[in-house]
Amino acid sequence: MTAAAADSPALPPFTGMALDRASTERKDAGWVRARLRDSGARVIAAGDDGVLVVAGDGGALGARQAAPELVRGEIREDQLPEPILLGLDGGAALFALDVGALSPEAQRAATDGNRFMGLREAGALMAPAEAGLAAYVMALLNWHRRHRFCANCGNPTDVAEAGYTRHCPRCGADHFPRTDPVVIMTVEHDDRLLLGRRAGWPAGRLSVLAGFVSPGESAEEAVTREVQEESGIIARDPVFVASQPWPFPSSLMLGFHAVSDGGEPHATDGELEEVHWLGRDAIQEAIDGGDPGFQLPPPVSIARFLIDRWAAARGAHRSIW
Ligand SMILES: [Zn+2]
Repeated sequence: MTAAAADSPALPPFTGMALDRASTERKDAGWVRARLRDSGARVIAAGDDGVLVVAGDGGALGARQAAPELVRGEIREDQLPEPILLGLDGGAALFALDVGALSPEAQRAATDGNRFMGLREAGALMAPAEAGLAAYVMALLNWHRRHRFCANCGNPTDVAEAGYTRHCPRCGADHFPRTDPVVIMTVEHDDRLLLGRRAGWPAGRLSVLAGFVSPGESAEEAVTREVQEESGIIARDPVFVASQPWPFPSSLMLGFHAVSDGGEPHATDGELEEVHWLGRDAIQEAIDGGDPGFQLPPPVSIARFLIDRWAAARGAHRSIW
């Protein structure tokens, strides 16, 4: 069993990364160049299909092996057109490398004997902190790929602060990595949870409700609004539980628990195909691998983290929220 699948995990998947982001040092271009030339520097390469990992026997990867097995190699400056510094790992610099920016020959050399692992698989196989490193790489590279031009004047922008900003040489604007807040919440009434189903999900899948925070709105207000818009149910007293980076491509999931006085839920705004109150016993049966007539989301998601945490409170004092 992986850490992500433990009965009551302390941290959501993709969290707990311990890398020193070198937020101050990275502003010194000379310091960054010296790190690039340091023989101890390493890269984590990534592409459209995820982070590059060294394939183990049969392609399997152990949960703890995964991060150290990420692509290593001495960095040549001519192979790194835009040095994206992730941070310092035990004093050694760790860079992200978009293999899509390499020459065909360099791409072959970088990927030879390795394979790309998508983030959902990484979240399932790696320990949360290691999957968090993979999520960090993908989040940064996703942002750079999608923000090469100035949103203010349309001019091409340059990487600055070793990848933490992009600077426009024409109008002087600085652009920062974008993170989109999403609220996701367990809503409880009478020992039941409000679970819904979106179109396109695997058959039988139910999960907690979620939605983007709107401009000019607090996260707590977003919880109440989303639940009412998607189900017609009035949720109240939202309490923050945990958050999770979710770089698909750039979300930050803000996990809440709220309570409700009940009512008959119905899919109101077209986002859900169905929405129900599900009792604790049925939810526990789904967690235990039984067949209560529906399936819960996979352990890689904060949705499952929140549901598992709620179920684990059976018989316990509710003050855990
Ligand atoms: Zn500009």
